[in-house]
Amino acid sequence: MNKNDIVTIEITGITAEGSGVGRHEGMAVFVPNTIEGEVVQARILKLQKNFAHGKIEEILKKSPDRIESDCEVYHKCGGCTYRHMNYEAECAIKYNRVSDTLKRIGKIDIVPEPILGGEDIKAYRNKAQFPVGMDENGKLQIGFYAERSHRIVDFDSCGLHPPEFTTVVKVMREYIAKSSMTVYSETTKRGLLRHIYVRKAFATGEIMVCLVINSNRIKEEVLLTEMLTRAVPAIKTIVLNKNKADTNVILGKDCRTIYGTGYITDVLCGLQIKLSPLSFYQVNSVQAEKLYAKAKEYADPKDKTVLDLYCGAGTIGLTMADSAKEIIGVEIIPEAVKDAIENAAQNNIKNARFLCDDAAGAAENLAKEGIRPDVVLLDPPRKGCDQRLIETVAEKMTPDQIVYVSCDPATLARDCGLFEEKGYQVIAATPVDLFPRTKHVECVVLMSRVKE
Ligand code: SAH
Repeated sequence: MNKNDIVTIEITGITAEGSGVGRHEGMAVFVPNTIEGEVVQARILKLQKNFAHGKIEEILKKSPDRIESDCEVYHKCGGCTYRHMNYEAECAIKYNRVSDTLKRIGKIDIVPEPILGGEDIKAYRNKAQFPVGMDENGKLQIGFYAERSHRIVDFDSCGLHPPEFTTVVKVMREYIAKSSMTVYSETTKRGLLRHIYVRKAFATGEIMVCLVINSNRIKEEVLLTEMLTRAVPAIKTIVLNKNKADTNVILGKDCRTIYGTGYITDVLCGLQIKLSPLSFYQVNSVQAEKLYAKAKEYADPKDKTVLDLYCGAGTIGLTMADSAKEIIGVEIIPEAVKDAIENAAQNNIKNARFLCDDAAGAAENLAKEGIRPDVVLLDPPRKGCDQRLIETVAEKMTPDQIVYVSCDPATLARDCGLFEEKGYQVIAATPVDLFPRTKHVECVVLMSRVKE
């Protein structure tokens, strides 16, 4: 097999990245945008020692699950992975990915509960971060990064976003043309605007616009506010976020509000949730409610002490506060902790407290203080939990139940495997599709302490 060869491949599997894979002359060939069972002619684009990457030239046998993508930039933008198949097929892939990963990496042999799929798979995202730059001809680019790159794919609208986000981007194009605002270049490290970050509270309709800039201020603030709020009256606040660092991390630490209060308010699981720019919030509110309901069912928090590690703005723990004895939340971002404390107060929740700390360190300190939670909730970032944290929870805190929420099946499986070595058993798991049409899938797992 050589580069540019056209070979016939039967697609026999789907990778965790969502690419179809088949074999040719014993070698694995990855062909994106294919579906298991399909037979395609693929052009070989890249040849490695043990595998190759190809691109569809022609589909010889079409899957009955194949549909026409309804997005113009689907094959350029790195956002969606499954727009070429119906949603049932996507859910089946995600279910199998969770189930297989738990088995393969964690050696956990359970049949997960059915995946909780989204009813609305369009315009569900409550958050978008658009990189801003110039192309080689000096033309303004606002959009998304292409897969595994920092090349911006410019676009007018995205099928996963509510219409207000499209309007905000349109107005920002006009503002940039009208004002003295420059855009940031990752090569020269100069220029002002780096990212346009927009959030919508779906329950209240409130919108936040946050501009990530390579400075402390912008010149025409009033014009910006006027243009944005005129076009989108639901904008309740506009914030500038300073990020002068040469980094891939989108947000800097400092925010300055130039319009409104600096936050928006959503309603989630019946609770008023205040959101400031630096606080994490699940990107799909409707699905987050299903996820939290499942986490609550697993935690069964009645009269229990619940430790909510990696708690963000406190959301998961607070939904359990009505029946739990006490909630202790731990989160490393100070602004999120502040939101969590205010979220408890504005919902009249008195049995919750929050610590701003590293989860592993805080767990050690709490264990030393003699705190023995009945349930520990874990909801770490993609890289999963610290080994030290797993040891502290499993060996020193010894809760009866651990409820682990994760957006990465691989690190979830690894960590559940470690908990199983330390006296816990995975009792149940439910995949939840927080990210329809993309390769991502969320999962919540219940582990119980095995009693001797
Ligand atoms: N449970 C929350 C947030 C989950 S996202 C929710 O459902 O909305 C993961 C959170 O972990 C983020 O808020 C992030 O800021 C926080 N985090 C990351 N590393 C951490 C650490 N070492 N210790 C404590 N919190 C951490």
